[in-house]
Amino acid sequence: MVAEKGTISINTENIFPIIKKFLYSDHEIFLRELVSNAVDATQKIKKLSSLGQYEGELGDTKIKVSVDKDAKTITISDKGIGMTTEEIKKYINQIAYSGAKEFVEKYNSETDKSQIIGQFGLGFYSAFMVAKEVEIFTKSYQDAPAAKWRSDGSTEYEISDWDKAERGTDIVLHVSEDNEEFLEESKLEQILTKYGKFLPVEIEFKEKVINNPSPIWVKQPSDLKDEDYLAFYKELYPYSEDPLFWIHLNVDYPFNLTGVLYFPKIKNDFQLNREKIQLYSRQVFITDDVKDVVPEFLQLLHGVIDSPDIPLNVSRSYLQADGNVKRINSHITKKVADKLADLFKEDRKSFEEKWESIGMFVKYGVIADDKFYDRAKDFILFKNTENQYFTIDEYKEKLEINQKDKDGNTVALYANDISKQDAFIAGAKKREFDVLVFDDVLDAHFINAIEAKIEKFQFKRVDADTFDKLIDKGLKSEVVLSEDEKKKVEETFKTHVGNNIVQIEALPIDELPVSIVMPEFMRRYTDMSKLNGQAGMFGNMPVMYNLVVNGNHPLIGKIAKDGDENGLAKQLVDLALLSQGMLSGSELTKFIERSVQSLV
Ligand code: ADP
Repeated sequence: MVAEKGTISINTENIFPIIKKFLYSDHEIFLRELVSNAVDATQKIKKLSSLGQYEGELGDTKIKVSVDKDAKTITISDKGIGMTTEEIKKYINQIAYSGAKEFVEKYNSETDKSQIIGQFGLGFYSAFMVAKEVEIFTKSYQDAPAAKWRSDGSTEYEISDWDKAERGTDIVLHVSEDNEEFLEESKLEQILTKYGKFLPVEIEFKEKVINNPSPIWVKQPSDLKDEDYLAFYKELYPYSEDPLFWIHLNVDYPFNLTGVLYFPKIKNDFQLNREKIQLYSRQVFITDDVKDVVPEFLQLLHGVIDSPDIPLNVSRSYLQADGNVKRINSHITKKVADKLADLFKEDRKSFEEKWESIGMFVKYGVIADDKFYDRAKDFILFKNTENQYFTIDEYKEKLEINQKDKDGNTVALYANDISKQDAFIAGAKKREFDVLVFDDVLDAHFINAIEAKIEKFQFKRVDADTFDKLIDKGLKSEVVLSEDEKKKVEETFKTHVGNNIVQIEALPIDELPVSIVMPEFMRRYTDMSKLNGQAGMFGNMPVMYNLVVNGNHPLIGKIAKDGDENGLAKQLVDLALLSQGMLSGSELTKFIERSVQSLV
């Protein structure tokens, strides 16, 4: 047989160095690309056959991947449409190498090359990432002689007729020395499973089929039962607890999108990134980094998204600007909101039971996305200390009579630590105030977001601004102390609180004699800085507080009459600080010593 030789016209002398330099970290995608090509070729012949345009036997169309450690080759064989000599010239020589050129051009205009790695679909050409020489043996389904092509990754190729009776293509990679790790069967199997687990054509490796060619997301929801969804979840995440519920995505206009998104159970901490959403394109695994495709707050979901309309071979900045990606993003958000609304309507009780987990998504969504609040406002729930749940409207109505301030604002009280704030909660309840529980990591931000959305609605922590809350209840009376006594008491306490303010208030006799309150804004600021890991902001700055002295309490009356010779005032201030977790170090030690002494 006579071999025809030719030169590929591209400006790059040798494609090896480019590939090695720029794609080093992602060598393994060669297998994804070659197996995808084999899948395409197989599906094409099946299609032609179903259309009656190919009348031969389809036969066994499994794709086979094999390794020969001695010969140092990896072979990918398919029974697809194959290629004629002309087609090799057209598709492999021109397209593959023009792809290389394009790649180089794209790279040159790109500031951050890491953005390209793993995103650029290199097709057949990526074989040279691991091979020093590549051979193609192929026989077209058409009546044409088989052909062999080989190239060493330089700009030269060799093409000749070949003796191959069976339809299809064998790609043989002669693995280069520094890529011999890919000759390990375990390594190859791991990569095959990663990228090919759900490819639509059976893939055989070591005499066994490694994939599930019809995963549930390509099936009709009406053909599926709950067990199917749960089983698929286990297939994706073998060690996980069952999810709470799921959404089957199925869009074909104006973009193509299928997938199943699962809502996992979330405990009261962020189990971020433990299990990730997997992104596929026509059943080929692309990435589990879905940052740009799925809104951030929904990245807590698990499952699979498959869309051929997400451009994968371009840089990230392009992806963010892509119209389809934006539409997919808002479609997913809408679907999730619709699903939650349905669940709420269909079975409120079960929705409430799952609120601990669902609330995470909803709160995150409200904080991150204005539009999400509009979709979610009817099923956002507030939980009170009695474990009752209210929608925003229900709660506003509940507070209508008893919890309005003089400006007509509804004032919702909340606790973020029900055991620490127990005394305050009890105090609030005595006044028939309702207290909500907001004790998860997102709540400080969530409360702010909600306040910004609802007019004339405010949150106050149950231990904040005590006296304010009382004004409208008429619980305050005149302080029984005389003006002189008041002054004396104030002076006494002032010596123990540094620059903080002392307020004498006329609280009921059974309230604490001294307590610490903090402006609500200061509390929230502290909570948020903690959440953002900036505790230092307040660590460096002394926390401002007000010391509220209950002028009606007998102990205060005692100080007013007899003075403070026994150090009673200091002891009361320390007790108030202690109850807020604000007493520490040597102050705490001294307090304990004094307390013990007083018992002797
Ligand atoms: P892409 O797959 O993006 O088109 P490739 O460089 O991977 O780019 O492949 C170029 C072309 O070569 C394919 O479009 C196809 O026509 C042909 N080809 C590649 N591999 C095979 C194969 N295994 N069987 C038949 N044709 C193939």
